Amino acid sequence: MNKLDKISDVLLMGPGPSCVSKSVYNALSKSIIGHLDPAFIDIMDDIKGFLQSLLNTKNELTVPISGTGSAGMETCFVNLIEKNDNVLVLVNGVFGVRMTDVAKRLGAKVDVLEFEWGTPVSVEAVQNQLQKNNYDLVAIVHAETSTGVLNPVAEIGNLVSQTDALYLVDCVTSLGGMSVKVDEWSIDALYSGTQKCLSVPPGLAPISFSPKAVEKLNNRKSKVPNWYLDVSMIANYWSGQARVYHHTAPINMNYALYQSLFDIFQEGLDAVFQRHLDAHNQLVDGLSLLGLDMLVEKSARLPMLNAVVIPNGVNDAKFRSNLLQKHTIEIGGGLGPLAGKIWRIGLMGHTAYPHNVERVLESIKTG
Ligand code: PLP
Repeated sequence: MNKLDKISDVLLMGPGPSCVSKSVYNALSKSIIGHLDPAFIDIMDDIKGFLQSLLNTKNELTVPISGTGSAGMETCFVNLIEKNDNVLVLVNGVFGVRMTDVAKRLGAKVDVLEFEWGTPVSVEAVQNQLQKNNYDLVAIVHAETSTGVLNPVAEIGNLVSQTDALYLVDCVTSLGGMSVKVDEWSIDALYSGTQKCLSVPPGLAPISFSPKAVEKLNNRKSKVPNWYLDVSMIANYWSGQARVYHHTAPINMNYALYQSLFDIFQEGLDAVFQRHLDAHNQLVDGLSLLGLDMLVEKSARLPMLNAVVIPNGVNDAKFRSNLLQKHTIEIGGGLGPLAGKIWRIGLMGHTAYPHNVERVLESIKTG
């Protein structure tokens, strides 16, 4: 028996992956062509252009890395950090903790400013810290998927831009669901992933490096310690007249990313972001009618990741398993200190539609 026969549609309303549209599935199943075929290079150029528009950046070095969001994180750190560099990581959830781990493995001297999970990073605390020490790099997560918190990335970018530090931002969950303004927010390095609001299966990680980041890369004292993720070599495949083979690009994943970006621009960025916000408001209102509370205060809530407090007496694992088995809806549980305390309901990309919100609300109600 072929086990794939057992796979059927699940409404993906967890922290990722999100639902994939028919047009993106169609793109994935297009005939494969060579990774140096002019038709593929043409698609690569459009992907770069779409990403630059989505990120609001002129950064030439804006490409998808082959790998999931974590490969994007690793790419930014391995290229931009050297041993003994001073790094400040702003942590208010799992993905800030992960950044700390990645930076430490590269021999950086890492300071961590930690904030209560479920609350945003404090701009004032960052300002104080930047006065105490000189950093080579400051890192933050825009949309903390583990808690549903939106961090004040623009305000902190303004502070970091007044120092020599590079500003690194994780936009894995935000990109495609809300506005991201790389140049205006003084972001020097950004990574994302395809499986959240871009609604492409996991497997590619868009990154963007500013001229300041490229300068740091070009003036490294040591070689980038990772061959596969060395962006100076990857850039030679993604730009220029003569493309230089680095690794065989995941062709069909890039078709899918192209299609997703094409669809996003067809719908219009404002309309896409409004759709995420509307779905979020619809969900929060519906949950409130069911007597359920949100973890995060209104001003710091993400539209695409909703952290809901699990009411006393409800068995988390049993509840989520019932949603999946009986209603074929996946929602996420809490992580770390929030395990067993919250549900994480994702409204990402192709999932963020009113009929899906209605369906999850009805399923939570009936149990
Ligand atoms: N950063 C954030 C904010 C995430 O939410 C995730 C995944 O959930 C990652 C990084 C890692 O991405 P991936 O699991 O695709 O490697």
